[in-house]
Amino acid sequence: MTGTPGDRKTRAERLAAPLARNVVKEVAAEHGACLRPVQLRRTDIDTGHVEQVLIPCGHTLASVCPPCAERARLLRATQCREGWHLDHEPVIEPDPANDQQRTRVADRAEVQADRDALAAEGLDTDDLDERIGELDQQITDAGMRGNVLPARARRHRSTRRRQDTAPLPRRPVSSRTVGKTYTAPDGKTFRPSMFVTLTCPSYGRVCEDGAPADPDAYDYRRAARDALHFAALFDRFIQNLRRFVGHDLQYFAAIEPQRRLAPHVHIAIRGTISRAELREVIAATYHQVWWPSTEAVRYDGGCLPVWDEHTSTYLDPDTGEVLPTWDQALDAIGDQDEPRHVARFGQRFDAQGVLAGSRDASRCIGYLTKYLTKHLGNCHQAATDAQADHAGRLAEALRYEPCSPACANWLRYGVQPKNARPGLIPGRCKGKAHRREYLGYAGRRVLVSRKWSGKTLADHRADRKAWLTGMLELPATDPGRYSWEPVKPSDPDHMPTGQRLLHVVADRIQWQTALEQARRRAAEANPPANGQAA
Ligand SMILES: [Zn+2]
Ligand SMILES: [Zn+2]
Repeated sequence: MTGTPGDRKTRAERLAAPLARNVVKEVAAEHGACLRPVQLRRTDIDTGHVEQVLIPCGHTLASVCPPCAERARLLRATQCREGWHLDHEPVIEPDPANDQQRTRVADRAEVQADRDALAAEGLDTDDLDERIGELDQQITDAGMRGNVLPARARRHRSTRRRQDTAPLPRRPVSSRTVGKTYTAPDGKTFRPSMFVTLTCPSYGRVCEDGAPADPDAYDYRRAARDALHFAALFDRFIQNLRRFVGHDLQYFAAIEPQRRLAPHVHIAIRGTISRAELREVIAATYHQVWWPSTEAVRYDGGCLPVWDEHTSTYLDPDTGEVLPTWDQALDAIGDQDEPRHVARFGQRFDAQGVLAGSRDASRCIGYLTKYLTKHLGNCHQAATDAQADHAGRLAEALRYEPCSPACANWLRYGVQPKNARPGLIPGRCKGKAHRREYLGYAGRRVLVSRKWSGKTLADHRADRKAWLTGMLELPATDPGRYSWEPVKPSDPDHMPTGQRLLHVVADRIQWQTALEQARRRAAEANPPANGQAA
């Protein structure tokens, strides 16, 4: 044991020694092992043999688990690369419906007919509506996608184009998804694709560090609303672009913050479009938000609407009057009213052609995945007072902006949020968009069209696993052979965090060595020609 009087150390000396527990984490990270492995108990159904299996947490944020976040980022990079210059249509044919699925839909049809017959007579349809709900669930359980009917009839809003926006030529959209191939005079073929960056408009001049030159003149309200509706605007852009080019254009897009903390989007697009055409589509793209007005603050501070238990509605605290519901407030928006917000992209954009497999392509994929392991609000840390002040003002602007129809902030403007429930307080909505780290954008960070690589992220993950097991010549395991259950801290076989970490480090080292050997064997088996392993 330690502690002979001769090697007595000062407190400073002792503190200078690295903490063993932290070193385990460092070593784990170095080996790419998950820092928060989850323990599962795996039982072989045939033999009853029980094994402890540690699986990676799979978190996508580097602040939580750097190795898992990096793996997730690389998987996105693979997905981006595989779809970008695809030269054949990815096949996504749904399986034909089986007998059980057909029967469910037939049942659903009968109940719908009965229900509609009752409704036509003005009779009570509650029982059948309930049955319809059950059948819809069974349809989903039977493995069918989507619903037989849209959830609810959509509100009709004027689709008249805005007068301040040029119309776009519309072409019928064909199902083609791959870009054109060009042939050079020397007979070589190439298939260019695009890398496009779209930004939000200007809210006021900003300095080098992203902070506004004049914070009081900076349009924080507009910045906040554009961020909140950025995903919808992007959707619109893609819709317009597809109609414009006339085919089922495919994209892989990543949403990121600029230094001024406004979202922008990098888009890898399959095939090419000219700059002039892009400019035309961007200028013609807008998203109108038909929400109730928030011009007048009706309730503030201590004077807030109160929840009424009996009617399940919010009332005016003084008069007891029921506040208009979300649907009533929407119905009150007339044809003469202006939309509450119109989101558009800025006129400045960036576009470049990118060839398959080029260094440019790798660089762009790097851009596209660079910040995916961080929250939007943590990509540019405030280093100056001006930057911190800017972030603070934006967060303040987002505080009372309604983030969705169900946002608690609607109460501030005298409207009951959609699906109102007790306990809603304006300024304290739990929606992610209000949180500093989201900068007003709470949507997905990566937006991928359905026929990009023709694979889901899970498919790409399975590809990787198949490659690995093939490389290591591991026998294929039958997933049906095992039953799995989580191990709880109170279970006798539960491993504490430290022990789990040591195990994953050991595992990692073991199979990294095995992979190394497999690569060497492969290189020896088929020497120089182009013997580079993947
Ligand atoms: Zn992890
Ligand atoms: Zn909200």
